Amino acid sequence: MDDAKECDMCGRQVNRIVKCRIEDSILNVCTNCSEYGAVIKAPKPVFSRSVSDSVLPESIVPDAASRIRRAREKQNLSMELLAQKLKEKESILHRIEQGKFIPPINLARKIERVLRIVLVDKGGADSVENNAPTATGALTLGDLLKEKLERKN
Ligand SMILES: [Zn+2]
Repeated sequence: MDDAKECDMCGRQVNRIVKCRIEDSILNVCTNCSEYGAVIKAPKPVFSRSVSDSVLPESIVPDAASRIRRAREKQNLSMELLAQKLKEKESILHRIEQGKFIPPINLARKIERVLRIVLVDKGGADSVENNAPTATGALTLGDLLKEKLERKN
């Protein structure tokens, strides 16, 4: 039998062999023995999921510049007036509308409130913001608060 392979763990001759991590070594084992370790071809998705949740909780929409300009023009707001409402420099607003400057989340939030538009993309995971009991969530909130306080001074 050319197809028969030997299981590294139990030594049985089997047709189907799986690569499997058992403790610190990678073994070629039969399907029975693979239950004792992690099969390499099917990694657990837990890790990548938690990473994307903490690294990308929200982001600025790609067409933020045109959204801001359109909303501002619709409301007959001059760039100067909008800048005043936002307590930001007109030049910054100018660069944002030209797409040369991506506003940080807290500024985007201010613009959202003033123009009543959506600029922050929550990546389709609204629940992340609503129930974020994790340590990373608390950290982000703390950072935002700190930034807010620093801005006031
Ligand atoms: Zn085996």
